[in-house]
Amino acid sequence: MRSYENSIEAYKEAVTLMPGGVNSPVRAFKAVGMNPIFMDHGKGAKIYDIDGNEYIDYVLSWGPLILGHANPGVVDALKKTAEKGTSFGTPTIMENKLASLVKERVPSIEIVRMVSSGTEATMSALRLARGYTGRNKILKFEGSYHGHGDSLLIKAGSGVATLGLPDSPGVPLGIAQNTIAVPYNDLEAVRSAFEQYGEDIACIIVEPVAGNMGVVPPKPGFLQGLREVTSAYGALLIFDEVMTGFRVDYHCAQGYFDVTPDLTCLGKVIGGGLPVGAFGGRADIMEKIAPTGPVYQAGTLSGNPLAMTAGYETLRQLTPETYAEFRRKADRLEQGFHEAAVKYDIPHTINRAGSMIGIFFTNEEVNNFASASTSDLDLFARYYRGMAENGIFLPPSQFEGIFLSAAHTDEDIDRTVEAAEKTFKAIRG
Ligand code: PMP
Repeated sequence: MRSYENSIEAYKEAVTLMPGGVNSPVRAFKAVGMNPIFMDHGKGAKIYDIDGNEYIDYVLSWGPLILGHANPGVVDALKKTAEKGTSFGTPTIMENKLASLVKERVPSIEIVRMVSSGTEATMSALRLARGYTGRNKILKFEGSYHGHGDSLLIKAGSGVATLGLPDSPGVPLGIAQNTIAVPYNDLEAVRSAFEQYGEDIACIIVEPVAGNMGVVPPKPGFLQGLREVTSAYGALLIFDEVMTGFRVDYHCAQGYFDVTPDLTCLGKVIGGGLPVGAFGGRADIMEKIAPTGPVYQAGTLSGNPLAMTAGYETLRQLTPETYAEFRRKADRLEQGFHEAAVKYDIPHTINRAGSMIGIFFTNEEVNNFASASTSDLDLFARYYRGMAENGIFLPPSQFEGIFLSAAHTDEDIDRTVEAAEKTFKAIRG
């Protein structure tokens, strides 16, 4: 058995210092019934905790580290930038460099504004959509997560196209009622929401591959349908590509599915492991943002030189071949995992989009939050603990995907499949 003694001690102190001992809730490992694991360092696809345990990492800081940990190019570039000073609060050349690269890779982005997190990107994009259209309501999908802005922490009421209820105390009902939530992949529900409220809907915000209910790809025609409905009603289509951006494909999910949104939110990979978010899109919309336009948005550390450097160096190293490799490695992992699960009669459904992989412990097809919720969470928790014991670090929640990095080798994947096999065997006792 692995020892987690130092993590246990560290967590005892942490709970006296931070709510639940953490600075972001999922890090408390509540869903899997484990003490949080405190990490010490990482290199490539491996991370090491403060008890000296090694893991193959499929969390990658929840997505950003697409090149793996402590990538030499990123680390060297960061050192050079840090030596020149860490922040000026004035424009720097690195902002131009990253913005140009983003424009080049994401053709729907004509102008982009850098911020410091995915939450800021989505909050700002919503304000912009409302400011631009002069409308109040927004439409989102059940089980999607777009950061913790008030308008987005909304659960659907029962039934299709009802107005939202706050998902958290502190979100005013008045704000929640401007958010409509409908099931993912359900174009009919979207159309009927627009029939009812279309004149007052500013935008649809959608994860082009849902990544916050596990991984749920769009059904064929779903994203195209959203494009048509929004255009017909004069509403904006916002792709929240905080997770999918530069992960699903070289030109992001919008390139992969060939659908052009009006605005795009980015985060995670675009910061290469430093705090970055961005939103961008059509110039005539983006120019409504201050200082060219009246919609206010700002940030002391927006476009921070270190953050821009890590993002630029990360994107620079990604090529179309990187994504072909991801697909090959994901095939290998999926195949191995499927065989292991079949061998031990473990119910499972595997969803994929590029290097995002979602494993559900159900035999049902998973295409929205309701079907994702049929996954056996108790089985997931046992699987999670078994995988950790065998040196595989996974997100401690069923409703998160796992990620590959360019640093994962075939050997890492084969070790992961072996760990799954051992874990299933132990579960079946
Ligand atoms: N949108 C999506 C699709 C996300 O997955 C996340 C974070 N998981 C966010 C927005 C919020 O980003 P951040 O945590 O950087 O605020």
